[in-house]
Amino acid sequence: MQVRVRSFHIQLISADSYFKGYREDDDLKKKLDALEQIQGIDIQIDALKIAQNGLHGEVDSIRKELEVARADLDGLQAKLAKLDLEKKEQEECLAVEQDNIRRSETNMKEIKTNKEFQAVGREISAARKQTSELEEQILQKITLIDGLNVEIADKSANLAELEQNSIKRCEEKLAEVEAIQKDIDSDSERREIVAKDVPASLLKRYTSLRAQRRGQAVAIAKDGYCQGCNMHIPPQLYNNLFKAEELISCPHCQRVLILKQP
Ligand SMILES: [Zn+2]
Repeated sequence: MQVRVRSFHIQLISADSYFKGYREDDDLKKKLDALEQIQGIDIQIDALKIAQNGLHGEVDSIRKELEVARADLDGLQAKLAKLDLEKKEQEECLAVEQDNIRRSETNMKEIKTNKEFQAVGREISAARKQTSELEEQILQKITLIDGLNVEIADKSANLAELEQNSIKRCEEKLAEVEAIQKDIDSDSERREIVAKDVPASLLKRYTSLRAQRRGQAVAIAKDGYCQGCNMHIPPQLYNNLFKAEELISCPHCQRVLILKQP
């Protein structure tokens, strides 16, 4: 029976190619403790990085909001420039028409025939109709321009305030990012010290497992279960954890098992 248990265990360990032939020495517990600590630090660093990303995201939205406000104001200013130009063109047309009317009125005095008089009269009346339409259009433009000027003044003031505010808010967020970075740096330093107790090969295994197992490469084994995947650990394997002779992985999720049994 003893032999069969042993072979079962070896078979499981062999299935894990990395640990094939891996022999633990006396300080297995020290290595496992270090690995557990490293995982704790890594989880903390991950959380800090998520917080940093969140802050960067907030900075991006603040900047985006500012860009949108600037583009909005630019749009209004372009609209104003277009209206101004159109108004200027209409004013020029109006001046030309008014000039034509004056000239025709002067010419009228020298007209001899009734037919000619009527023709010039028709010209003048058409020109007057044209000028009154132009005047109407110019008035509409003035109303639009006035409204636009009010809106632009309003939005310029808002933008200035938003710019001030955004600078302050971005600075605050970036200061937070920096403070978090200091925590990450000190965690990384601590990790480096702890990692000295773990062989490079085991660290490499841990890193790839962590990537595959959503950040958790080390799992607690308790009451016959792997707390990483909540699956039952075969009794023989579980017993071997108590012996603490070799590194044992969960047969279901391949996480490195650490026994936590009172
Ligand atoms: Zn497991």
